[in-house]
Amino acid sequence: MKDKLICCKCNNEIDRKRDRWVNVRDFDKGENVGEKDMHLQCWKDMARRSMQKAFNEKANQIFPMIKNMMGNTGMVQNA
Ligand SMILES: [Zn+2]
Repeated sequence: MKDKLICCKCNNEIDRKRDRWVNVRDFDKGENVGEKDMHLQCWKDMARRSMQKAFNEKANQIFPMIKNMMGNTGMVQNA
């Protein structure tokens, strides 16, 4: 076991006893090819950011489609 854990996100030391942290194992075809340690908070930030990025990318594709669809169908409603 390594005696010093460094967070791969913020590069600060992880205090095993005080901090909440996660250990992520990287498997390739059943083989453990790497391990990463991160503060729980850093991991959450990373997950949130990548989700946001994925959402933004999708939104950029979807919104023009919706605009197009609405334009094509007229979408005019008279009361
Ligand atoms: Zn960290």
